Amino acid sequence: MVNDRLLNEGEKVFYKTYNRFPVVFDHAEGVYIYDVGDKKYLDFGAGISVCGLGYGNDLVNYALKSQIEKGLLHTSNLFYNEPAIEAAEKLTTMTGMDKVFFTNSGTEAIEGALKIARRYNFNKGKKNSEIIAMQGSFHGRSMGALSVTGKDHYREPFEPLVGGVKFATYNDLDSVKALVNENTGAIILETFQGEGGIYPATEEFLKGVRQICDDNDLILIFDEIQCGMGRTGYLFAWQEYDVKPDVMTVAKALGNGVPIGAFLASGKASDAMKPGDHGSTYGGNPLVCAVASAVLDVFKEADIPGHAKTMGEYLWKALDEIKEKYPEKIVDHRGKGLIQGLEFAPDVKISDVVSKALLDKKLILISAEHNTIRFVPPLVIEREHVAEMKEKFMEVLDEI
Ligand code: PLP
Repeated sequence: MVNDRLLNEGEKVFYKTYNRFPVVFDHAEGVYIYDVGDKKYLDFGAGISVCGLGYGNDLVNYALKSQIEKGLLHTSNLFYNEPAIEAAEKLTTMTGMDKVFFTNSGTEAIEGALKIARRYNFNKGKKNSEIIAMQGSFHGRSMGALSVTGKDHYREPFEPLVGGVKFATYNDLDSVKALVNENTGAIILETFQGEGGIYPATEEFLKGVRQICDDNDLILIFDEIQCGMGRTGYLFAWQEYDVKPDVMTVAKALGNGVPIGAFLASGKASDAMKPGDHGSTYGGNPLVCAVASAVLDVFKEADIPGHAKTMGEYLWKALDEIKEKYPEKIVDHRGKGLIQGLEFAPDVKISDVVSKALLDKKLILISAEHNTIRFVPPLVIEREHVAEMKEKFMEVLDEI
């Protein structure tokens, strides 16, 4: 069988940092993905919160094809290109941030954000400034991003990492205040912890950290890589409470599948780095920016965040009903918009649930920390897809 042959080949050639499921995907349409045997899967993972517009969106495809037809996929950042200017203009207009730097991934956006923080403080004469990050956070796998990731099991095998990082407790303002001293230069947090188990930041916490940063002239960095781009029902999660960061990071759904991320800076952070301080060969090339620009147009014209909010309410009701039906298996339901999670009792092995949903019911789900299953479907799902997910998921829960 073609699936087995490809699985065997993959097993031989890939550096094994993932335990992959034994499925080889081939094509997709809307909110469904098909494997090489043409079996159809309902996608409630969106490639880990990436494919916000689902698969085969006409405008995204048109933008991609048009740029290919122009023949210019890459120029380097020594020159300007129109798609990058357009995408950056749209991002600044939609956020009120001042400046944009395009990267190839979320992790790289975090690296840039951390460099702005260090550079801003250095410019003020504060060398070796410290960064306060959050326990339970996830910011990526490079050495810098790992340094601010609040999970020992990710960090420890690669220490020593970037120094000068301290960890506070998420949503606990006093724990942040207790760490601020004259060496502190920045605070970084996800506006909504995804990987860490689906925990939204409270309004009080976001406003409190903003105040601490204003009082102490610190750089406030919001990581919106997973929760941004409409997922919480707002284009960016911080916009719900109007707590603007000095620096924010975005990636994932910005490219709907093409690799692009960005860090955005405003006010005092927007000119901290100087020419020569940072760069990227590919970052912001015309191919990926043409797609990001089209994605941003669709988000605006079709009010994708508004749709995510409406569908989120519908998903909330469905997951609440599931939680009520299986009280011995499910202990908590968290989230908002189309980023929600069900936390399972410690005796339920969620890897088995995810695996059974995928292999037996053709339902794609992903896990998060705290024995939680994450529901991050494409933002374009409709009620019928939520109903289909509910039916399949309850079959899984009946059988485990
Ligand atoms: N930050 C957050 C909040 C994320 O969820 C992720 C990835 O899951 C990253 C950073 C890293 O992004 P990437 O995998 O694109 O490098």
